[in-house]
Amino acid sequence: MNRLNNKVALITGAAKGMGEAEARLFAEEGASLIITDVDYTNLEKVASDLQALGTKVLALKHNVASEEEWKKVAEEAEKTFGKVDVLVNNAGIFSVSGVEETTMEIWNKVISVNQTGTWLGMKYIVPLMRKAGGGSIINISSVYALIGTGTSAAYQSTKGAIRILSKTAAIEFAKDNIRVNTIFPGAIATTITETALDKPSKMEETTSDIIQIIPMKRIGKPIEVAYGALYLASDESSYTTGAELVIDGGWTIP
Ligand code: NAD
Repeated sequence: MNRLNNKVALITGAAKGMGEAEARLFAEEGASLIITDVDYTNLEKVASDLQALGTKVLALKHNVASEEEWKKVAEEAEKTFGKVDVLVNNAGIFSVSGVEETTMEIWNKVISVNQTGTWLGMKYIVPLMRKAGGGSIINISSVYALIGTGTSAAYQSTKGAIRILSKTAAIEFAKDNIRVNTIFPGAIATTITETALDKPSKMEETTSDIIQIIPMKRIGKPIEVAYGALYLASDESSYTTGAELVIDGGWTIP
């Protein structure tokens, strides 16, 4: 079954991690894709794999924090596909400093990518969704929007902001048949902790303590989040908006 036949999906941060997993899964399910990332080298590899399987793919170098670049992405998307049905605001960066330790530079950088990037994505892609008669926006937050850790002031602020931004957008765009939902991944095996802005760390070290408090006693795989995004992208979720899908192995139950 192709659950995304005739749909055009735009996924940010698709060069690796969960964005890549979503791009590959959405392609298998029949979607055409616009994939974007600051890392154009890896993005091109993902694009050529998908093109080899017959998927129509537009790969664009794109910094989600830039309004000018979002305008260009929207223009290219319109030129190539004429519409966008699904937007996954996935691109994000991590930082592990507490309130006192966080510098102005880190604070502004994390907010500009995670929070401003998500807002800009909705602002510039919604007009293309209206042309399609509706659409589905999936904003990637984090369990760090649901629990405090004492260690990631800027990152947690942005993920909390994405949570409420999605809810207000869900109300704003309901009249346009555009649904806005949020996914809250727990600890997922990607490289994000290795590329943390302030304290690069290895995923295994960072997650070994976390695994102890996750009821399922393991970290998740990118594909396990991608399946949640697939449901929200497809028409199977046609009455679901403003929803919060937590995919965390039970981490936030207690
Ligand atoms: P990742 O580092 O593997 O992938 C993130 C991708 O985003 C990379 O390809 C990177 O180049 C790209 N990116 C970074 N800054 C960008 C920018 N300014 N513009 C465009 N692209 C940019 O990380 P991931 O774990 O796959 O993260 C995906 C999303 O999931 C992020 O929003 C992250 O905050 C969120 N998340 C991750 C975890 C986890 O445990 N991995 C948990 C909760 C939430």
